[in-house]
Amino acid sequence: MTANVETLEFQSEARQLLQLMIHSIYSNKDTFLRELVSNASDALDKLRLEAFRDKELQVEVDDLHIRLETDPAARTLTIADNGIGMDRAEVIGLIGTIAKSGTAEFLRKLKDTQDAAGSQDLIGQFGVGFYASFMVADKVTLVTRKAGATEGVRWESAGEGTYTIETVEDAPQGTSVTLHLKPADDEEHLYDYTSRAKVVEIVRRYSDFITWPIRMAKPADATDSTDSTDTTDAEDTDSDAKSDAVELETVNSRKALWARPQSEVGAEEYTEFYKHVSHDWTGPLETIRIAAEGTFEYQALLFIPERAPLDLFMRERKRGVQLYVKRVFIMDDCEELMPEYLRFIKGVVDAQDLSLNVSREILQRDRQIQLMRRRLVKKVLSTVKSLRTDKPEAYETFWREFGRAVKEGLLDDFDNRDAILDICSFPSTEDAEKQTTLADYVERMKDGQQHVYYLTGESRAALENSPHLEAFLAKGFEVLLLTDPIDEMWVGSVPEFGGKPLQSIAKGEVDLETDEEKEAAKERQADFAALLTWLGEQLAETVKEVRLSSRLTTSPACIVGDTFDLSPNLEKMYRAMGQEIPQVKRVLELNPTHPLVTALHTAHAKGGDLTDLTAAAELVYGLALLAEGGELADPSRFIRLVTDRLERTL
Ligand code: ADP
Ligand code: MG
Repeated sequence: MTANVETLEFQSEARQLLQLMIHSIYSNKDTFLRELVSNASDALDKLRLEAFRDKELQVEVDDLHIRLETDPAARTLTIADNGIGMDRAEVIGLIGTIAKSGTAEFLRKLKDTQDAAGSQDLIGQFGVGFYASFMVADKVTLVTRKAGATEGVRWESAGEGTYTIETVEDAPQGTSVTLHLKPADDEEHLYDYTSRAKVVEIVRRYSDFITWPIRMAKPADATDSTDSTDTTDAEDTDSDAKSDAVELETVNSRKALWARPQSEVGAEEYTEFYKHVSHDWTGPLETIRIAAEGTFEYQALLFIPERAPLDLFMRERKRGVQLYVKRVFIMDDCEELMPEYLRFIKGVVDAQDLSLNVSREILQRDRQIQLMRRRLVKKVLSTVKSLRTDKPEAYETFWREFGRAVKEGLLDDFDNRDAILDICSFPSTEDAEKQTTLADYVERMKDGQQHVYYLTGESRAALENSPHLEAFLAKGFEVLLLTDPIDEMWVGSVPEFGGKPLQSIAKGEVDLETDEEKEAAKERQADFAALLTWLGEQLAETVKEVRLSSRLTTSPACIVGDTFDLSPNLEKMYRAMGQEIPQVKRVLELNPTHPLVTALHTAHAKGGDLTDLTAAAELVYGLALLAEGGELADPSRFIRLVTDRLERTL
């Protein structure tokens, strides 16, 4: 039946990705099989679920399995499943395009990456899935029939720009993918994937844990059951043997990793399982296992990836934990099991005491689920904490990749706030290269220091030059330099760490002075009182007070907010998001030892020209604003004032 063959073009992103696969820079080509088996396994999961939900669905679910067939003469390898299948639109949508979020970003980065190693890394992060077939095949034929549909679809492509698609009448339920293998090539070490032994070896290495049987014909010379396979699926083998002339055997052990004793599972098995659930091509940073017994029994096998996914901060981002009930896959992206700020955690939770038709609504209300989630979150946080001490490099990787997401938890997860703070690291004045934990900061606090000091802003460079920092640096106080936009958000709602209040050095009054210095300051305050009052009146439109500062050593002035005022950076962020924010008036602080300020003081005391003094006051305010990286309300007026001054000094 080839009545309606259509030739269609791949979407352009897909075409680029295919080119990469065809000229495969990825050295480990065996992984194509893992991708196809993983898709087949997903398709079986989906069908079982669908049949469970929709009792009317006319499908065969008694013998769900994956079947591999090699044909050395034709040089083909076929991966077939009797799972959910795809209809025509799905084949076009899923196989002809890449709908994954972050695709554009991925391709842009790939373009920038010249070397092969860098590209491999990126491919690993992105996961190429089905297209991995084109690393080893020069033509791929996919035949599929959607569960419940009568007609099937045949898709074929050489991966070069176009594919053909046609309706077929006699397709079996599910999907079969036939790879027309490239000629074996010694130089490239392209293995012979028509070799049964090779295929079995790859399946055992990458897909052993797949819970569905993966069947293959027994080798011709070993048709009795003395074959080395430790099959747990003897019945399947028999039933197939009857209906089929070839005798089949199951080549994977099908043991769910999370149900096996921890001591029995090797690191490599975890890695392969991680790749299956995460669609990542590189291994995890850390593996976490939890087993809860008693009235609500469950097992969890969670992973911290080594890389942030490209869509970590995109709107369509998903959560990475799958829910199983008694070994049966129930749902992907189970948001009831992991909070948003830990969305990058991947893995599986298998609950023994839930019903198979559990729904999102039920999960949301279930108290046991809430308890389970709480335990999972605590375990993830404590695992990261132990990385900090036991594997500092892994911790640094974690923080670099996921820190920004984790800090969102400081806003959302009140119960775990202390545990989250405990695993946070921040840039600080202590070390330009390395971030510090709060615990280490507290450890270094000076005698008598009560607060954890921080400064927020757009960049480290801007903060380092901020006048607010001067006295703190001069007196040797360490200050955290917070430059993530999210930092502006959480600092307002986190009052303290381990009993030490957090304090912005750009807000409120600072107390860095000795008693003697305080005495001297009081005298100066009296001396400057008239100037300060007068300046306050002149600048009343822009500032709420003018006072003397104890945080300045070299700058003439700076502007500070009250404790609960928005910081200028946050104000800017809100405005950028289109929010109406009333003008925040802050306090102008003057450095009484600066020549500019003392000159102003003298001129005012002598009753100098008031227009001139007013202009000077405005300039001092403008300079302070520029020094903290702020924006002038009227730059042209400021320039006129400066130009005027300069002219008169020349
Ligand atoms: P991913 O598995 O990461 O989604 P793939 O490129 O491997 O990406 O597959 C793309 C999509 O094509 C899958 O999400 C699935 O919807 C569909 N698909 C692939 N293989 C099969 C299959 N054997 N049966 C049913 N659908 C499949
Ligand atoms: Mg896939």
